[in-house]
Amino acid sequence: MSQRPFALDPLFRAVTGLPGIGPRNGKLLENLISGPKILDLLFHAPVDFIDRRFSCPIAHAPNGKIMTTEVTIERHFPNARKSLPYRVKASDESGAISLVFFHAKKPWLEKLLPIGERVIISGKVEYFQGQPQMMHPDIAKPSARDTLETVEAIYPLTAGITNKVLRKAQQSALSFIPALPEWVDDAHKNREGWNDWHIALKSLHEPQSEQELDPMHKNRMRLAYDELLANQLTLALVRDRQRKINGRIFEQSTTLREKIEHVLPFNLTGAQKRSLYEIDHDMGQPGRMLRLLQGDVGSGKTIVAAMAMMNAVENGAQAALMAPTEILARQHGESLKPWLDAAGVRFVTLTGRDKGKSRELILKQIRDGVAQIIIGTHAIFQADVDYHDLGLAVIDEQHRFGVHQRLELSNKSKGTDILVMTATPIPRTLALTAYGDLEISKLDEKPPGRKPIETMLFSKEKMDQVVAGLTRKIAEGTRVYWVCPLVEESEVMDLAAAEERYDILKAHFGERIGLVHGRMKATDKDDVMEKFARGDLDILVATTVIEVGVNVPEATIMVIEHAERFGLSQLHQLRGRVGRGSEQSYCFLIYSAPLGEVAKERLSIMRETEDGFVIAEKDLELRGSGDILGTKQSGATDFKIANLAAHGDLLAAARDDAKLIISRDPTLESERGDALKTLLYLFERDQAIKYFRGG
Ligand code: ADP
Ligand code: MG
Repeated sequence: MSQRPFALDPLFRAVTGLPGIGPRNGKLLENLISGPKILDLLFHAPVDFIDRRFSCPIAHAPNGKIMTTEVTIERHFPNARKSLPYRVKASDESGAISLVFFHAKKPWLEKLLPIGERVIISGKVEYFQGQPQMMHPDIAKPSARDTLETVEAIYPLTAGITNKVLRKAQQSALSFIPALPEWVDDAHKNREGWNDWHIALKSLHEPQSEQELDPMHKNRMRLAYDELLANQLTLALVRDRQRKINGRIFEQSTTLREKIEHVLPFNLTGAQKRSLYEIDHDMGQPGRMLRLLQGDVGSGKTIVAAMAMMNAVENGAQAALMAPTEILARQHGESLKPWLDAAGVRFVTLTGRDKGKSRELILKQIRDGVAQIIIGTHAIFQADVDYHDLGLAVIDEQHRFGVHQRLELSNKSKGTDILVMTATPIPRTLALTAYGDLEISKLDEKPPGRKPIETMLFSKEKMDQVVAGLTRKIAEGTRVYWVCPLVEESEVMDLAAAEERYDILKAHFGERIGLVHGRMKATDKDDVMEKFARGDLDILVATTVIEVGVNVPEATIMVIEHAERFGLSQLHQLRGRVGRGSEQSYCFLIYSAPLGEVAKERLSIMRETEDGFVIAEKDLELRGSGDILGTKQSGATDFKIANLAAHGDLLAAARDDAKLIISRDPTLESERGDALKTLLYLFERDQAIKYFRGG
């Protein structure tokens, strides 16, 4: 059995246990570096550094400058009161400086700084009443001058972990770095002037200049490339496997499509036609279709999916449409029903709610091929669901799936064409890292007749105005979404905030208000949402669970609290819940003042445009990479070193490299192939390696 190379073992040891890291701060550290391993720590890159190499006579010490110099200890001035500092006078040939200590114990200082002794001090020089002083300087014996006269890397920190603690652990972690076989192509490496992996990684933590902090510095580029190559290689591999599975040829549907067109109250947009043309082309090829249909909320993906499914059905095969939630599955059913009825196509819906007899019946219809179209949640791909002949699977993923799930699905549905629909407009670079070399169709044109959503910003102080406005609108019959603050990494706090808002609004608006959140049972959640959709509720207070695409055309107001805490793409998704009917819609973004520059810029973009592609590109630009796909957990985009805004070119190179590797050495047997396996293990793409093993 293939196994992680032993050379990597030290990197996979726990950070807890490194010098200065115990069980308690170990947890904090793990959170900070997003992982428990020494490797995670090593990928935690410094963002700044302090240059302690500067030295000069005390008399010339510049104010505010960090310096390191040798002095003689003259005299101690213990603190008269506890609240006052303990001072120690020290001097060199040019002058004297006062060393200042708060909360320091006398015996400790006397031992550390004996009178008459020469010591090295290092710290920031400040002037107090015209005299130079240094607060809590670092101190060393003259023989150890070079331990202070260094460049000190500054890391992103968290409460409970100081830079000193982090650096100490990091210093120790550095000693665990093994030399690994080179996985980067020699010619490429030489052309870029890249260092070996272990040298690049060590240097990352020893910045000597501003340039070395730059994402474009060669050491950071190399490490980013490694990460992107692991990502692209994994995806290329999956893609390769899927390509090798034979697809089938579906002639383009004419009869069924015409019947649907007959009852369609609109004409397809240019973008819809183009996407459909691309899908038809893929489905008409013997290879297997693997296509991503990207389009903003409301861009009209459903009809495209329906038309694609007709290709399979008209050729005698079945088609399935999978939605991420029960309610969405049912909504798809409702949207498709008139079209399928017109075409005379039989369909069933299957969700986790179908139990016992009714489930048995549905399963039988799927098995016998009586059901030509199957709509449902992931329940439709469970082990006990046998298809008569599944020709096309459409996955409305709403960015819920990661690479991992796609691997599983591709195992389950051999030879089936796959169309993935996503409502998240994804910048090209991100699409590449999440989907690899997948074909993409874009619905970049909205159906005609949509009124633009009016987006307004309110500071939290103006909440009264918002509530007054809502009161008026609700009296006119409007329905309102109210999305509550997102609190990073804390579902409990999300919930508390949402419940509090719910109570406040209830006190004001009365009973016709509902609350949904991520901790509710799916069925309860769906019940509340359905009440809102039916019009039994005026206001739906929610955490971000409504992000997935419920369709309530009568809802025309979206209120988002603490808008500054959301990603732009997330705001865009949320806003897309309104503006679906013919009425004028509004989006109120409520923020907590004061806003930083970037936050201001981000929120004003929301006011300026409704184009999801523009917003996604901006988001990427402003945030680096961030969580645009909402798939952080899936490992699709949470890079440690790579920064997609800066490393787009590297990504393209990694993609080409991965393609070449797969075409030349698909099972990674060569010497470089072996090194590449190490790379995949390094980034924990074990899943991918299993595939390589299988050949
Ligand atoms: P998405 O799934 O992309 O968010 P939908 O497929 O639900 O969007 O479409 C949103 C709405 O737009 C639906 O009511 C749909 O019937 C309508 N629609 C779709 N295509 C067109 C079109 N070409 N012209 C007018 N309306 C359209
Ligand atoms: Mg949809």
